[in-house]
Amino acid sequence: MARRLVALLGMVAAIGLAAGPRTWTTEKWFDKPRSPRIANYNIEATLDFEHKTLEGRETLTWRNSGTAPAVEMPLHLYLNAFKGPQSLFMKESGGRIQAGRMDHPEEGTSWGYCRLLSVRMEGRELEGHDGEDETVRWLKLPRPVQPGETIHVDITWENRYPKVIARSGWAGNFLMSSQWFPKVGVYQGDRWNCHAYHASTEFFADFGVYEVTLSLPNALGLAHTGTCMAQVDPDGIERDAAPDPKRPLNFIWRLHAEDVHDFAWAVMPRESWRRPAMFEYRGVQVFYYINGPNRGNFQRQRRAVENALRWSEEWYFKYPYPTLTVIDTPKEARPADGMEYPTLVTASSVAFDPLQLRFEPEQVAIHEVGHQFFYGMLASNEFEEPWLDEGFTSWFTYKAMERSYHSLLGGRRFQVGTDFEEWVTYWGLPSADPLTRFGFKTLNLLSYNVGAYAKPTFVLNELEAMLGRPVMEQVMRAYAQELAFRHPDRQDFKRIAERVSGRDLSSFWRDFVEGTEVLDYAIREVRTQDTTEGGWLFSEKAPVFAAPQPAAPGRVGSITLERRGGIRAPITLWVRLENREEQRLVWDGQDRWMTYEFDSPVAAAVLDPDGNYPMLKDHLHASYTPKPVRRGFHYWAQMVWGAVAGWMQGCGIG
Ligand SMILES: [Zn+2]
Repeated sequence: MARRLVALLGMVAAIGLAAGPRTWTTEKWFDKPRSPRIANYNIEATLDFEHKTLEGRETLTWRNSGTAPAVEMPLHLYLNAFKGPQSLFMKESGGRIQAGRMDHPEEGTSWGYCRLLSVRMEGRELEGHDGEDETVRWLKLPRPVQPGETIHVDITWENRYPKVIARSGWAGNFLMSSQWFPKVGVYQGDRWNCHAYHASTEFFADFGVYEVTLSLPNALGLAHTGTCMAQVDPDGIERDAAPDPKRPLNFIWRLHAEDVHDFAWAVMPRESWRRPAMFEYRGVQVFYYINGPNRGNFQRQRRAVENALRWSEEWYFKYPYPTLTVIDTPKEARPADGMEYPTLVTASSVAFDPLQLRFEPEQVAIHEVGHQFFYGMLASNEFEEPWLDEGFTSWFTYKAMERSYHSLLGGRRFQVGTDFEEWVTYWGLPSADPLTRFGFKTLNLLSYNVGAYAKPTFVLNELEAMLGRPVMEQVMRAYAQELAFRHPDRQDFKRIAERVSGRDLSSFWRDFVEGTEVLDYAIREVRTQDTTEGGWLFSEKAPVFAAPQPAAPGRVGSITLERRGGIRAPITLWVRLENREEQRLVWDGQDRWMTYEFDSPVAAAVLDPDGNYPMLKDHLHASYTPKPVRRGFHYWAQMVWGAVAGWMQGCGIG
């Protein structure tokens, strides 16, 4: 009941139908905290939209949930990744990531920063030093903070937003304010876990309550994490009044979110953003800030978000927050697109797509909303184990796409699986890094993508094939429900999978999670030979020559299997012989090859006929028929269609 009221309030405020109440009220979403609420922020910030700067003040209320006293405290200052070419981020990425780059390095306007002005605790200014680079500042606490103790730290800072790159910054008159405030690391056991901002990896933070007050120019529309409690115009000017350059800071937005571990927002002049489309899905108010030219995609976007919420509820648990905001970013701000924040995602669509050939907005929307669970609520360490978020989310995306779209869009008719992209990525560089490698320590960005997104999709498919779908669903549900808001790691997942399935997964774990070998079997050779008998026969008297002639059974067959990859797993071979006999054989896969002989030629053969190994590389060479497959109309239709669709996607037409 209360939740509905909050959502409605936010809705009314956001669409500007009426001015919000003049008094601020303290609202809360949950009667019982969902999370341990370790890092809580009370933030006040003022945006200078013209100069793309922000002045901020925050009180961090932090509890030591570790086992030892904390003597220092690290703060992420993420925007310093874009301060200059010397940052770790810039050196690792060369300034090019996610289609964004620093266009005019000589111009200060392209670059950004986050500058600490003051950090105080118990009346004392804290001394500090930079960590690996300026994206983390380590501050010496005035005294050790004991386990269980709560402290308040007052911080003032200023930002300059960069030209949009890697999720943050401005483009045209759009501004994505993400990774925008000084943010404490995670204290685990007796040490801090707080990595610098790397080019490939994402984030890790503790949960808490956010009270955010933003002072924004009155002509701006705002999309944000959480709910909007009230809007205040100190001078009573209508929110929709024409912008007045002399009054750049007319509106104060008070925002609230709880049991989240980050907070993001975006602004755009109201005339270009207009009002958000919105709908309710099972108690969740979904706000959709649509980019003008893409307005026609609203129904597609809506279905995608509903599908994501539906399947995540069925497979994990119900999305618990009152709101979900989806931003369809403008074209020029693409580096901010396809990103997830608590209760807020960016997921753009494409204006011209009459045949609905593209996976956008569906795939992006389902993926980003899926992140609300693995990034948002499970909240594993994305620096160190990115696959527990990106990989699980990719698997969710692929599953939800398959369940939701049975038409041309889902690829069923044209036999292109929704995991095809992951398949291509995985086999592009399958063995460089195990899933246990820290995300920023992989060989290169491709290997990061393999380990974070592609390989885990197949590892989870493998696990499902091994356990069966009903057990796999129980495993995932138990993992999500038991460890939400708890920062699980891979050992937690293994423990739950073993407990729920009742199976020992250590060899699976060794091969697929800790190992870098691949699963690759093939039918190397199929032979048919005539059986003949004759030649010199030795009798007691003298050798006799009998002319060679066909012998029963006439012809015999053999098949040689090959293990091309390093993973040794038993694999089934199904064969049908010309004499119509069928056989199923299991090869243990220990050697590199194995030949089976039959007393009739092989008419057809399939390796892994039951699909126990979704990860098997080469399906083409895992089956055999004596005659090549006839390429009929269906084949050529797929080829032509695929080429046209691919060309359109490549050109950005669709
Ligand atoms: Zn993702």
